[in-house]
Amino acid sequence: MPDFEHIYDAVIVGGGPSGISCALECHESGLDVVVLERAERIGGQLSLIPGPVYNYAAGFFESGETLRNDLERVAHMFLTDRIKTGCNVLSMNLAQKEVVTDSGAFRGKTVFLATGYRLREFDLPIPNGFRDDVLYRSGIYRESLRGKPVAVVGSGDSAVFTALDLADFCSHVTVLARGKTFKARPDIVARMKSHNVIEAHTNSVVVRLLGQESLQSVIAVNQKGEFEIKCMKLIAKLGYLPNTELFADQLRNAGGHIAVDQNFSTSIKGVFAGGDIVQPGYDRIAFAAGSGMMAARSIRVFLGHTP
Ligand SMILES: Cc1cc2nc3c(=O)[nH]c(=O)nc-3n(C[C@H](O)[C@H](O)[C@H](O)COP(=O)(O)OP(=O)(O)OC[C@H]3O[C@@H](n4cnc5c(N)ncnc54)[C@H](O)[C@@H]3O)c2cc1C
Repeated sequence: MPDFEHIYDAVIVGGGPSGISCALECHESGLDVVVLERAERIGGQLSLIPGPVYNYAAGFFESGETLRNDLERVAHMFLTDRIKTGCNVLSMNLAQKEVVTDSGAFRGKTVFLATGYRLREFDLPIPNGFRDDVLYRSGIYRESLRGKPVAVVGSGDSAVFTALDLADFCSHVTVLARGKTFKARPDIVARMKSHNVIEAHTNSVVVRLLGQESLQSVIAVNQKGEFEIKCMKLIAKLGYLPNTELFADQLRNAGGHIAVDQNFSTSIKGVFAGGDIVQPGYDRIAFAAGSGMMAARSIRVFLGHTP
């Protein structure tokens, strides 16, 4: 039986922009909070943003990592040991506000859920020998991709930006979109379609990977049947999924996105959620930070403090 002698005002799950924003605002109001973050550092997806961030009205950041460093500095300055990194939440009983982690159990008067998104992985079986040839990020592999044919799977901004970037140094880039159109910004889709190194296919799904010791080609299928694409690496840009499997069944949700009201309150009283995982929502840093801030206000009200 876990020892719940200490009951926090708020147990915050996830140390991305949403969780940290909520924690800082709660802390400023004198509330007793703890942040549970499974990674070794806070910041969530910020560390994945390769380019500059200039749509968050807090300044210009050369990369997500720069913003993460700033966030980390301020968070540790004020929240000190209230941030538990390397602390993976394994289960929760939201009605009781109990959260069990791999390094102890925590109980709150309220819970704020901000577990964010993770990359969606291929649902195709990848033979062991090809595991290193299927990539979810291409940036760090630039040198090994130089001069080689590659294929990118996906249809959003990330897939199209990746294809345009790879086209600068790969011999050939094939882009395969499952749907009948590309979902990415029209300007970059137009650039992709007119690029002489890029070949774009819609209505196309990868069904097999071929090669001897490493990947040589993939077989895709479209309305006309199967076709082969020569590629040494397959880069998956399949979008993101909400990290809500641990608790979605306890809350009203749509496709894993947690339903919240205008106060970021969920279907259980005293349980709040924010950032990428909520609906209605918007997967942006400003929304994550803003919803965390709003949830802190709701937590204050729930605990009987003035708003
Ligand atoms: C490549 C890329 C580029 C982007 N570019 C921009 C941009 O230019 N501008 C912009 O506004 N937005 C951008 N975004 C989106 C932005 O990063 C997210 O909207 C924002 O980080 C969401 O914050 P969050 O706190 O909701 O979730 P996250 O940042 O995902 O943080 C969630 C945290 O919860 C933790 N967690 C999850 N499960 C558990 C568990 N079981 N136990 C403990 N901890 C857990 C995770 O480790 C993570 O640290 C980009 C995202 C990506 C991937």
